[in-house]
Amino acid sequence: MVMDGDIERVLWTEEEIAGRVAELAAQISDDFQRFPSPVVVVGVATGAFLFLADIVRKITIPIVVDFIRVESYGSGTESNGSPIISCDLKVDVSGKHVIVVEDIVDTGNTISCLNSHLMSKGASSISVCALLNKPARRRVPFKLAGEGKFYSGFECPNHFVVGYGLDFAELYRNLSYIGVLKSEKYNQAEE
Ligand code: 5GP
Repeated sequence: MVMDGDIERVLWTEEEIAGRVAELAAQISDDFQRFPSPVVVVGVATGAFLFLADIVRKITIPIVVDFIRVESYGSGTESNGSPIISCDLKVDVSGKHVIVVEDIVDTGNTISCLNSHLMSKGASSISVCALLNKPARRRVPFKLAGEGKFYSGFECPNHFVVGYGLDFAELYRNLSYIGVLKSEKYNQAEE
């Protein structure tokens, strides 16, 4: 039972993540403070749970928090390309400005699915705040609804990463940093 030993290298430490999260929260607070009604911050479960918990505590404007669950991965490292909303929002986003908080934007399938879903619910604008962005892997370009903005914490190299909420087969979410998983770990699992 090793955990740190399964990591090839650390990409961002706990301190680096905390610093960037504070910057993103300051930017969001500044950009959205002109709106009279609270912004709805939607965490994408499960991967964004730590990022969401940390960023909302640094946002200084009134917000409403809810979760949505989207399934697109099995236990492997490749998206199956057709995400499904398996647990929907409780709050009504009609006429509201929404910020989707996501762990990582990879192919873009999940964000594109969420954008259409939230648009169909009548959101005024949809912004995305992703801790990591892997532009090299993008398959689906997305245009965010309304005046929606795209915030991204770090540009992620084209490797499978875990930690700070990100998993492989539901493991490693509790690492305080983000690192590259040794490829033998997922090769073993796929054998
Ligand atoms: P997309 O739909 O953009 O391809 O993928 C989004 C989801 O794929 C993310 O929310 C995340 O759960 C998963 N994902 C994409 N790349 C990685 C990665 O490098 N590591 C982990 N753990 N999950 C990833």
